[in-house]
Amino acid sequence: MSNAKVNRGLDFSQWKGVWVITEQRRGKTMGVSIELLGEGRKLADKIGTTLTAVVLGDGMTDEVEALAHYGADQVLFVEDALLGVYTTDAYAKVIGELILERQPEAVLVGATTIGRDLAPRIAAKVGTGLTADCTVLDVDESDKKLLQTRPAFGGHLMATIICPNNRPQMSTVRPGVMQKAEYQEDACAIETIKGNLSEGDILAKVVQIVEEARHGVPLGEAEIIVSGGRGIGGPEGFELLKSLAEKLGGEVASSRACVDSGWTTPDKQVGQTGVTVRPKLYIACGISGAIQHLAGMSESDTIVAINKDEHAPIFDVAHVGLVGDVHQVIPAIIASLKA
Ligand code: FAD
Repeated sequence: MSNAKVNRGLDFSQWKGVWVITEQRRGKTMGVSIELLGEGRKLADKIGTTLTAVVLGDGMTDEVEALAHYGADQVLFVEDALLGVYTTDAYAKVIGELILERQPEAVLVGATTIGRDLAPRIAAKVGTGLTADCTVLDVDESDKKLLQTRPAFGGHLMATIICPNNRPQMSTVRPGVMQKAEYQEDACAIETIKGNLSEGDILAKVVQIVEEARHGVPLGEAEIIVSGGRGIGGPEGFELLKSLAEKLGGEVASSRACVDSGWTTPDKQVGQTGVTVRPKLYIACGISGAIQHLAGMSESDTIVAINKDEHAPIFDVAHVGLVGDVHQVIPAIIASLKA
């Protein structure tokens, strides 16, 4: 029987439980996994089912034990020497087989570089659909189906997608959007199983991992962000933003316009096609507030906008608005911080 026939039909009563496919790099759990566990818990409670955290790796006992404290009903740890480092073939094979065997009704994967590679391959293996890059998840009260919402048409509308004829319902979820699960004193049960992989299961091998040199914290984890748009005038404008960020102990980010102009690097881009951030303070300098930019920062606790156009849309989401030229306002703020 082909995989596609196994999970197609109208009777899904055997498909139960929400799974979060957690992500690890070098044996360390990534923050997106805790966010997905927070969201997965809410969905499982609304459906009235269980939440399972799925971990693939090799000898990462401490991390697996730690994951048992983040609200899941069970941690399912697949251990194998060939799962220590992510490879598409091995991960898709193991998770695909587990899904067909244990039949979860919903599977959440982070929309990270790894998740974006992995989730479609799992979906193809088990013969289901995939809603990529979700920013909102909910459950339909009447039939307990997953409501998966994601930006569509360049972010101009939000599309809510359901998966009526297949199981599991699969979503990749943007990092930085969902609330992290809280640490709990009580730990859930951990089931450890062997991966049973052989070298022949892995077609592409990882030969070497080269870490990118990074200064400061990743944008997704920064508490203070000073972000520049086209209004800062050029690459030299980022030196001004750096001075302000250093004074505040924050990180520098940007709109896509500055990345496209080569003023800064793509890892600094906030927005729909960049990073989603939720800092305590986001200072938008010379950024107009296009919908695609707002998609990545509007959940910040406090937004300060500096723009010379009083009608700029960024002021619609700002808690504090300063109408003026960034080249006058930012040096004035730095001077007052020094004082
Ligand atoms: P502009 O829109 O040109 O705004 C510049 C602002 O600076 C203006 O409001 C102006 O009044 C102000 N200004 C000018 N001079 C000064 C000064 N001296 N002092 C103070 N203010 C000044 N954009 C993103 O940012 N992130 C994304 O992830 C993203 N994804 C996209 C995905 C798609 C599919 C598409 C179609 C677009 C995407 N965009 C994204 C682009 C987005 O639509 C906007 O083009 C972009 O955000 C504009 O950047 P900006 O605000 O820096 O520039």
